[in-house]
Amino acid sequence: MNGTMKGLVKETPEAGAAVRYDLEIPRVKDDEVLVKVRYAAICGTDQHIYDWTPWAQERLHLPMVFGHEFSGDIVEVGSAVRRFSIGDRVAGETHIPCNSCAECLTGNAHNCEKMKIIGVHVPGAFCDYISVPQDCVWKLEGNMDYKTGALLEPMGVAVHGVFSGEISRRNVAILGCGPIGLMAVAAAAAGGAAKVMAADIFPAKLALAAEMGAARTVHTREEDLVQAILQETGGRGADVIIDYTGNARLISSAFAALKKGGRFTLVGLPNEKLTLDATNAIIYKEAVVNGVTGRRMYATWMQCSELLTSGAVCLDKLMGGEYALEDFAAAFAALKDGAPGKMLFRL
Ligand SMILES: [Zn+2]
Ligand SMILES: [Zn+2]
Repeated sequence: MNGTMKGLVKETPEAGAAVRYDLEIPRVKDDEVLVKVRYAAICGTDQHIYDWTPWAQERLHLPMVFGHEFSGDIVEVGSAVRRFSIGDRVAGETHIPCNSCAECLTGNAHNCEKMKIIGVHVPGAFCDYISVPQDCVWKLEGNMDYKTGALLEPMGVAVHGVFSGEISRRNVAILGCGPIGLMAVAAAAAGGAAKVMAADIFPAKLALAAEMGAARTVHTREEDLVQAILQETGGRGADVIIDYTGNARLISSAFAALKKGGRFTLVGLPNEKLTLDATNAIIYKEAVVNGVTGRRMYATWMQCSELLTSGAVCLDKLMGGEYALEDFAAAFAALKDGAPGKMLFRL
């Protein structure tokens, strides 16, 4: 497809971004599909890029269209594409695996040794059209709407974390009620957790957590997290604690609320080095500590599709705000102000 399109571009090495109307519609390579983007959601990663934090400075080469959580319609397919056709409704997978390293060859493509990321290393989805390898799209099942489709990628991070160990009949504490934490609350409840507890510092987010399946919410500035969890679990502690905050101090202290033999899953990237009393926090507890990055390709996608199409999880309450691309400043401001749910661009 020839022509120009609209997109949100990070142009200069400073905070902010700009809408451009003269971007070239990308050309489809043999193994790629061209997607007309319908909705794109803003991720914490995009906030880093927008604010031009050190994380973004180390990774991006400017100018760059950013954004990576998207849904849309396939409008063109490359000559080697077999799994998709024009007209397919799809969601975007951010990981671009190399398909030839040891991880890719052993079923761990989501943790590829040469991983590239859409919207960070290659042009992203805050635009009308994006061309991506066929590995990077997932067909929307049934009549799943585009907005939900745009949230499948972050939902995958939530679901991968929750189901990276046993969840059924376990007492589960979810730390952090941003969109991914909230999706984890819903996934844990749908997965048969005995009791889901959710912690955050924003009352509006805690209210959403309660609506999405948390039996107990903990405002960590007003209440002691460890005491609250112990109280809710007969003094034994949570079987599973999953952190989506990346708050190093909170993580360290929360180990005191983990039951013996429990699982502590780390998803959020700690904001500073983690210091732990490993003797009591892990060894004497025989605790299992695991890290989770991204989503499994495509086991997690199947789990997400199943949770949504069965009605076990619904993301409607997570739609925080819908914006035109031109209103990007307001969308990023809402995110920064701690507005609950996801901010989406309608394209
Ligand atoms: Zn993301
Ligand atoms: Zn690889």
